[in-house]
Amino acid sequence: MHLPPSVELVNPGVRRGAFKVALFDFDGTLSLIREGWPRVMVDLMLDRLREQRLITEPEAECAAHVEAFVMALNGHPTARQMERFAQEVTARGGTPAEPAAYLQQYLDALMGVVRGRWESLESKRAQPSEWVVPNAHGVLRSLQERGVPLFVASGTDLAHVSREVELLELTPYVGGRVSAPKDNDASFRKRDVIEKVVRELGVRGEELIGFGDGVVETQEVKRAGGVAVGVASSEAGVRGVNATKRGTLIGAGADLIIPDYEHAPELLAWLWSKG
Ligand SMILES: [Mg+2]
Repeated sequence: MHLPPSVELVNPGVRRGAFKVALFDFDGTLSLIREGWPRVMVDLMLDRLREQRLITEPEAECAAHVEAFVMALNGHPTARQMERFAQEVTARGGTPAEPAAYLQQYLDALMGVVRGRWESLESKRAQPSEWVVPNAHGVLRSLQERGVPLFVASGTDLAHVSREVELLELTPYVGGRVSAPKDNDASFRKRDVIEKVVRELGVRGEELIGFGDGVVETQEVKRAGGVAVGVASSEAGVRGVNATKRGTLIGAGADLIIPDYEHAPELLAWLWSKG
């Protein structure tokens, strides 16, 4: 049995055999509704720094620095990124606003974009398949057919994730098994979700398979002893591996890298076979 060519095997010693539970991140891993969020967040942070004249290095250098800490916290509750930004303002000699105020500004900016996408889905002008990582429904169906319980853990607010699961017609696969911070609760941790799921199902950590496009879920799945599939997803309408995500995911410990789920059935068949 061979891996499809679109799959990059980062860890040739990756565990193969049956998996008993699968965990998915949401944004960038299943949904593309929040696609473009890093740009919105980084621009907002640069605006706030500029207002207080806190950018002393070349602008591009500052942007790269801000983007690096934003992406390093990808997967944590959004509030954590705002706390990190407030520290950045202080470190540069400025006076930060409350992280909650930054969070509100960010949500206001992002939600303008997100609401437009909700409306296009609600009015059926757009199909759910247009706003998910290609063949997301297919990978969920394949896993479900293998009898694997599917869970979602997201750093995005629970009310929004729940609504988007519905709009993207993912409820038949993950309905009732979505974990995310309530009212942007900064204490939400994916680690806790993984520990709870593994404990409640009575499975071993190595029987966990995780899919994610961010650092946090990848590290936490590895910490639990599971197999981490890095989803280096591109933007809507763009195909292929996103090089930045790929590098970050490999650094975080991903065992395999895929651009999307186009070849998910073959990937799952390879993983489930003992080799
Ligand atoms: Mg993500």
